[in-house]
Amino acid sequence: MTADATASQQSEQASEHSGSSWERGSTVRVVPPVRPRKLAKVPYVELADGRLQGVVSSGSDESRVYVSSIEAGTHDYSCGTNNNRPCGGLSAGPCKHIKALVNEAVLQYGADRVARYLRVEAAPDDRDGADLMARLRGGLRRAAGEMVFSRFLRHLSYLELPGGTAPLPEMHWFPATGAVG
Ligand SMILES: [Zn+2]
Repeated sequence: MTADATASQQSEQASEHSGSSWERGSTVRVVPPVRPRKLAKVPYVELADGRLQGVVSSGSDESRVYVSSIEAGTHDYSCGTNNNRPCGGLSAGPCKHIKALVNEAVLQYGADRVARYLRVEAAPDDRDGADLMARLRGGLRRAAGEMVFSRFLRHLSYLELPGGTAPLPEMHWFPATGAVG
């Protein structure tokens, strides 16, 4: 084997193993939204683990966030704080956090993609979050929010990598990014 061949083999191996642990460890791609979103309200939304799930700000308490999710297929939903306390707004069906999550998911991914992922029987005129919500048939079932929340934190730290996008002004209230990684 010549020296050149060895060098090229080594560089192929190196490129195979390049990429951060974030890129390797996540099945979730952060894509630009189909339409602009208000990050302050729903700072994180993903279609992952068989769920539409995300992080939703509390309407009243700036320091509190909720992890909300809807399971694909069953449409069972869950909402709780990042400290795993149940959301108080679930007694009469999906709370406002879940509705906000669906609305923002439609802006982020488009109604068709969200409906397909959740396996909602969607008519061609179903174009917004309220239409999708009206077709969900699931019940309340608590789901763990820790994974969603930790991916949200990694997402934030990813946004704030040197040379990346500057920290989002809308996120100023969220204090925990320094504690990640
Ligand atoms: Zn809630």
